[in-house]
Amino acid sequence: MKDEIAGNLKGVGQRIVDVCIRCGRDPGAVRLVCVTKTMRADAVRHAIQAGAGLFGENYIQEARDKCRILAEYPVSWHFIGHLQTNKAKYAVKLFDLIHTVDSLRLATELDREARKIGKVQNILIQVNIGKEASKSGIDAESAESLMCDISPFSNLSIQGLMTIPPFFDAPERVRPFFRGLRELRDSLNKSGMMADRLVELSMGMTGDFEAAIEEGATLVRIGTAIFGERQ
Ligand SMILES: *Cc1c(COP(=O)(O)O)cnc(C)c1O
Repeated sequence: MKDEIAGNLKGVGQRIVDVCIRCGRDPGAVRLVCVTKTMRADAVRHAIQAGAGLFGENYIQEARDKCRILAEYPVSWHFIGHLQTNKAKYAVKLFDLIHTVDSLRLATELDREARKIGKVQNILIQVNIGKEASKSGIDAESAESLMCDISPFSNLSIQGLMTIPPFFDAPERVRPFFRGLRELRDSLNKSGMMADRLVELSMGMTGDFEAAIEEGATLVRIGTAIFGERQ
């Protein structure tokens, strides 16, 4: 398993560099978030030993367990799952970036819990770019007003946007949604309130990360291509 993970990581890293070169982007501007949901701590350790340093988790309890087991390693954890308000206090302790803030209620709680531990919590706003009823995230049209509401919070810092687009097995069909998220970020940056502070675009997974990078992704969230199929 160890060699397989190391080989997969190398392959994914190379694909990221290749697509950056192809589309004229700096490979250093795209960070790989290794998605470890359902994977055992051993698998994460193999990835760390192969050079990975940034991990994405979807569930608070699972992340707490893994972070405890792997506490000796100086790696960074991001939260990419749906966050319940009553878990905010754990989230601010564990994660350098929370990708999935989509309501004022959640933001209020995160700000409060971050203040208690003297932290400025970095967050992304999750946008439901495909307007799917089943998906979390705020509608693109409401993103600006949510950011307006959040901007006075002194213990939150909005770094950018995240999306989980509709599922298609053809990356070209997902591309318009990636482009839509980038255009939304760029227009919010121009709107004055955000004043070019939105840098991050979290988008792209195993099946479509190359298209996401071509459309401007700065954080790609990749699980299966590194760790294999989940049970
Ligand atoms: C599981 C998950 C991923 C990784 O998906 P893969 O297809 O395994 O690369 C990315 N983002 C989110 C939000 C996820 O839940």
